[in-house]
Amino acid sequence: MDKATKSVVIVGGGTAGWMAAASLSKFLAGHDISITLIESADIGTVGVGEATLPAIREFNHYLGLDEVEFIKATNATFKLGIEFQNWHQLGNSFFHPFAGYGAPMHGVDFYHHWHRAKVEGAAGELGDYCLATQLAMNNKFAQPSMNNNNPLSVFNYAFHFDAIAYARYLRQFAEQAGVKRIEQRISKVHVGVENGDIESVELQDGRVIAGDLFIDCSGFAGLLIKKALHVGYDDWRHWLPCDSAIAVPCQSVADITPYTQSIAMESGWRWRIPLQHRTGNGVVFCSDYMSESQATDWLLGQLDGEPLADPNVIRFITGKRQKMWHKNCVAIGLASGFLEPLESTSIAMIQNGISHIHQFFPFAGIKQIEVDEVNRLNDLQYERIRDFIILHYCATQRIDTPFWQHCQRIDIPDSLKHKIELFKQRGHLIKYDGESFERDSWLSILSGMAIMPEQVETSAQMMPQQQLHQQLQQIQHAIEQGVGFAGSHAAFINKHCKAGA
Ligand code: FAD
Repeated sequence: MDKATKSVVIVGGGTAGWMAAASLSKFLAGHDISITLIESADIGTVGVGEATLPAIREFNHYLGLDEVEFIKATNATFKLGIEFQNWHQLGNSFFHPFAGYGAPMHGVDFYHHWHRAKVEGAAGELGDYCLATQLAMNNKFAQPSMNNNNPLSVFNYAFHFDAIAYARYLRQFAEQAGVKRIEQRISKVHVGVENGDIESVELQDGRVIAGDLFIDCSGFAGLLIKKALHVGYDDWRHWLPCDSAIAVPCQSVADITPYTQSIAMESGWRWRIPLQHRTGNGVVFCSDYMSESQATDWLLGQLDGEPLADPNVIRFITGKRQKMWHKNCVAIGLASGFLEPLESTSIAMIQNGISHIHQFFPFAGIKQIEVDEVNRLNDLQYERIRDFIILHYCATQRIDTPFWQHCQRIDIPDSLKHKIELFKQRGHLIKYDGESFERDSWLSILSGMAIMPEQVETSAQMMPQQQLHQQLQQIQHAIEQGVGFAGSHAAFINKHCKAGA
């Protein structure tokens, strides 16, 4: 008979561990199932992961967290999207908003109309037709209005936050909901000889913690899924060659931008993430083309203000665990894989992993068919996000350094080739199953990289030319007005959600 799940053991107390603990404590409330989280202060957490996607709002909402309290507790700022500088060509920049562009006209997607007008020389950049982009570029923020009669005012937002403060905040939530926390290093993992399940973990002080379901949130260490269960890893460095990062927080001196900046450099790129109390910075690079000391020197030379800590060097292998659920162990967070932080996807993937645990929670015991399904869903999500991130590298026209020349030669996955070709040849922008990013997100990167359909879509040719040009002007005008009404991002935070106020 299958063994019912009566105890869950979460290994690791980083963002993944505490998100899993908080969410499961809510999900399992009322069931007679214990949740224990083990973390080690000696080992600590990876200490990065400050930019999020809008999905984080759904997670917080599920827990019932008050948004203003959450922002104050985590020194968060608002994020309307990501600005990409020097990605297409040196000196060029574009914006990926959490929003759509314009509004459909005569039942035809806006981008087809925009493309036609662009070809006719009567349209600005795509971002001119997006309120979120224009707010961001003017350092402004306003809450979106989800008024469906006015699609221009509908957009989404996410946050930049202090990841350590977020984990602390969730810890408080989870402990109040009954999660037991143990602060100890795990020194051994006991695997059953007969069934290959994890039976227990042994702590440095000799205590043995048994469980029915183990959630491996031990970060890159992969203490359970990799070291104890030996589940292999799909190495995707041939598609995503960056393998190193260096992070340094610094004092904030400039206005806090309501967006993340991703600035391509000689052999990778750097991020700039403004929080209320400091700015997060880091460089992501490929060690075949740049040394750690070169990257560190370069990063330190780019900071807005004084560094607030020593550089934190992180090595990684882009890719994913071959099975994220194996036996009685589910890996979440960095233990399950890592796709580099270019589109801030990891925390959203943690959420996704947790939602699959909810959906397929083995109350009455683990069934292989459910394990297989969770693995299929997780693989799909990883592959779709992988393609989206590869697009940023393969679509560049930069050939000014050996690294960017290498990126031009990458043999991209067929799924991505198909998507790009369909768009180029016929103007169709498809959303595959399991895709996290909307078509507008793809469009922002494709158009930012100057990849456009070869011909104007026939259905967009039907509108009289003058009418089309007038409508585009009206949209631009309405957006300019919207931006005019909004206050600065800093003023919004000071008024509504200043940390410590
Ligand atoms: P960790 O934070 O490493 O936590 C691991 C936990 O396991 C710790 O508590 C540790 O103490 C515990 N542990 C390990 N071994 C043992 C042991 N033997 N005994 C007891 N405890 C143990 N994500 C985003 O969404 N947005 C971003 O902007 C972003 N930027 C990133 C930038 C970089 C350079 C990197 C590398 C990652 C970034 N990420 C980002 C990913 C993000 O940091 C992680 O997804 C997130 O922090 C979750 O990490 P984790 O909890 O899986 O691992």
